[in-house]
Amino acid sequence: MSPASPPAPIPSWRAALRRWFDAGAPAVAGTDDQRVDWLRAAPFLAMHLACLGVFWVGVSATALAVAAALYAVRMFAITGFYHRYFAHRTFRASRPVQFAFAVLGAASAQRGPLWWAAHHRHHHLHADTEQDPHTPRKGFWRSHMLWFLTPAAFATDPRRIPDLLRYPELRWLDRFDIAVPALLAMLLYALGAALERWAPGLGTDGPQLLVWGFFVSTVVLFHATVTINSLAHRYGRRRFPTRDDSRNNLWLALLTFGEGWHNNHHFFPGSARQGFRWWEIDLTWYGLRVLAWLGLVRDLKPVPAWVLAKAQR
Ligand SMILES: [Zn+2]
Ligand SMILES: [Zn+2]
Repeated sequence: MSPASPPAPIPSWRAALRRWFDAGAPAVAGTDDQRVDWLRAAPFLAMHLACLGVFWVGVSATALAVAAALYAVRMFAITGFYHRYFAHRTFRASRPVQFAFAVLGAASAQRGPLWWAAHHRHHHLHADTEQDPHTPRKGFWRSHMLWFLTPAAFATDPRRIPDLLRYPELRWLDRFDIAVPALLAMLLYALGAALERWAPGLGTDGPQLLVWGFFVSTVVLFHATVTINSLAHRYGRRRFPTRDDSRNNLWLALLTFGEGWHNNHHFFPGSARQGFRWWEIDLTWYGLRVLAWLGLVRDLKPVPAWVLAKAQR
């Protein structure tokens, strides 16, 4: 090959495979491509299929407890940190605390913190318009999950997150977004194997903890999180006349630790709290209060009085 000849094009299947492991690898399809890339999405589909493993590995109280605990910890990391901290900067944290919760968030297999924050900031700017990739106006399945299986959604737009790009450790988590989930899966298998050997009374083993603690918990966590895109812009009450379709929904707030107060949140995204009334249960807010009390986070931004004064009920 002469030095002047252009590099050989990468076959699309190989590019897709590379991007399973390295989200920073060059894309083949254009970033405006809205069709689902099923090969790129294969690991996401495989995680769902792996849940069928429950029919082989059985169940135990230990496995259910581990799955529930991992749901809770990771939901808190997604809502408290991916959303309220990285996307909206509604409180402050030291760099080690920021990184620790970024790792926990990354363990949710919802990609890296930069990708998540960039897409979410875009959503707030264009909510329920043609430019919002996950508005339910484009259909339930598109808003729930198909949107992020398209080449248009794989990239992280650096212009949305200049404040986060200066942390190389966050850029690393974003680029190798499969690393933390894979590590969690291996740790769960090892934990299950260790418990089988040294605490057989708990009735669990490696495959069982892998299936329940990783696959089932992660898939349920994923679908719970994205109800905020697919359902909280459709079902519930509107307290504030925002330009988008966002709603307040108690059931979604319980499922997602407070994110269901989505109309509140779209009206005023700058608060660390999303349940604006005392009776609007917001588990993430309570968790953040505990972290502030422990000195791990600070400057939790409150709901301003003028916002509450505008509330219609
Ligand atoms: Zn929204
Ligand atoms: Zn938001």
